Amino acid sequence: MNAEESTGPPGSRLSDAGLTSDAIPVRHFFGTRNAPGGLNAHIQLGQVTGGHPEFPFIAALKQIHSTRVVVLKTSMGPGALKQTEGDALVTNQPQTLIVVRTADCVPVLLVEKGTGVVGAIHAGWRGAVAGIVSETIRACVEEFGAKAEQMQMAIGPSIGPCCYEVDEPVIEPLRTRYPAWPGVLRETNEGKGVLDLKQLIYYQIRASGIPESQIGRLDHCTHCRADLFYSYRREGQVIGTMFSGIILPAK
Ligand SMILES: [Zn+2]
Repeated sequence: MNAEESTGPPGSRLSDAGLTSDAIPVRHFFGTRNAPGGLNAHIQLGQVTGGHPEFPFIAALKQIHSTRVVVLKTSMGPGALKQTEGDALVTNQPQTLIVVRTADCVPVLLVEKGTGVVGAIHAGWRGAVAGIVSETIRACVEEFGAKAEQMQMAIGPSIGPCCYEVDEPVIEPLRTRYPAWPGVLRETNEGKGVLDLKQLIYYQIRASGIPESQIGRLDHCTHCRADLFYSYRREGQVIGTMFSGIILPAK
C-alpha cells in the first residue's frame, strides 16, 4: 500500500494509489479534475450503464450523505441497481466499475482478497459520523462472507484539516455519536473546530478490524490543490466532481 502507481499486470495501471493484491488483479483509481471525458460521459447516477470494452458496466448511485450500502450480487445490466440512492456500492461481480463522486468528501475504496468483493464509499462528515464506512465493511462481511482482516482499504483525496473548519452543526453530532472525537477535532474559537475527516475514517476502519498495514491513504487536500481537484468549499458551489472507482477483472 503506497501512494505510487499500482504495479499490476500490463494494462492495469488506472491507479493513483496502491490497492494491489497478489490474489486479485483489481484495478482502481482516484480521479482528478482532469478525468477523461469519455469516462464521465458514460456515468449516470443511480444507474448501471454500459461502459467501455475494458469496463463493460459502470454503476453509480445518487449520493445522499446516508449510511445506505447498495449490494450488487447478480449479473449486471440496466436495472441491476435495486436502489438508486445511497453512499456505498459493493459487488463481487467482475467487469463492473463501481464509482463514487466527491469534491471535498472522502472517497474510500476496498477489496477483500478471499471473496473478491470490492467496494466504493462516499463519506462526507455526515455519512462518516453516522457510520457509512463501518456499515460498508459490515455489508461485505454479512452479504459475501468477507473477512475484515483480509480487506485492503484506500482512503482518497479529500479536504484536509488544513482547510476544514467546522461549527456546531458538525461538532454537536460528532461529539454525540463518536466518543473518540477529541482525536479528530481540534477546537479553535468558541463553537468552532478543525476536523480531520480522513483521520476519523481511518480510525473507523481500524475499529472494524482492518490491520494498519492494509490501509493506504492519500493526504492530498482537495481545497489546497486547486490544480488537481474540485473543492466544494473553495468554489462555494458544485462546479465539478472527481470520480473514483474500482473494478474486478473478468474471471
Ligand atoms: Zn488544505
